[in-house]
Amino acid sequence: APETLSDIVTSFLDVVHDRLVDDRRGAVADYIPQLAEVDPELFGIALCGLNGRVYESGDTDVPFTIQSASKPFVYSLALDDRGLDAVHERVGAEPSGEAFNSVKLEAGTGRPPNPMVNAGAIVTTSLVDGASPERRFERILERLSAFAGRQLSVDEAVFASEQESGDRNRALAYLMRGAGSLTAPVGDTLDTYFRQCSILVTAHDIAVMGATLANGGVNPLTRRRVTSAETCQHVMTIMATCGMYDYAGEWLLRAGLPAKSGVAGGLVASSPGEFGLGLFSPRLDASGASVRAVVAAQRLANRFGLHVLHRP
Ligand code: GLU
Repeated sequence: APETLSDIVTSFLDVVHDRLVDDRRGAVADYIPQLAEVDPELFGIALCGLNGRVYESGDTDVPFTIQSASKPFVYSLALDDRGLDAVHERVGAEPSGEAFNSVKLEAGTGRPPNPMVNAGAIVTTSLVDGASPERRFERILERLSAFAGRQLSVDEAVFASEQESGDRNRALAYLMRGAGSLTAPVGDTLDTYFRQCSILVTAHDIAVMGATLANGGVNPLTRRRVTSAETCQHVMTIMATCGMYDYAGEWLLRAGLPAKSGVAGGLVASSPGEFGLGLFSPRLDASGASVRAVVAAQRLANRFGLHVLHRP
């Protein structure tokens, strides 16, 4: 029987999945019990085209917490609420070359390096409009749900654990309060930040989220506009330069796609004008990104010539 495009894409995802399923390098995050107890064998790859078709292989419907992969989407909301200049008065746009929880702040301004490291993400969360902390989080959840094309929810147990183990993030927030880059109250801001990290998604969801960015802000499933094409361009730029922490430079060299990792093992990537990629596998490398997700995304990018600087 003649193969459809769908069969071809799905079988390629299956090949990538099968080749990597025996890769057991890395270790699951263990700073909270909920992450330590996850099945480390889970592995899902989803690709969402701009026509709204989702191609999937493996565990693409298993929920996990979005963690740092929330940062680009909350950044989009802060940009829409405040504008590019006002946001970047408080947070830089430079790759830090450091780990996700780095304490480096810019001399003079006290700005954290960029919106993708924890310190910068805490600032962008604080810049989201809302009359109360509850309303601010509601707007964040609405924004992420609109990117995913379905109503998302929070894992309350993970949220409670994040709160309990979040001393370093709390310390970062106090440092930034002292330096002037964070003006909102520390307690409320961290509450919102830990909640946004605890939103449950699947590999399927984050593929759709990545595709919405790739599609200039219109969700390819719901056809609803979530944000502007200009905001998507800003978000994907910061993902490309800063999304993979201290691996960001090598990631751009080898995969060449705007991407963001999360410590639960999720990875979202966007191929502008083409598709979104959602990957999930819990074992992490030294920079806190999923081992299998990084390799799988690089294979897909290389196979299809997806590097953003690729010229045929
Ligand atoms: N909740 C984690 C933190 O803020 C997220 C880190 C990550 O996903 O890289 O420490």
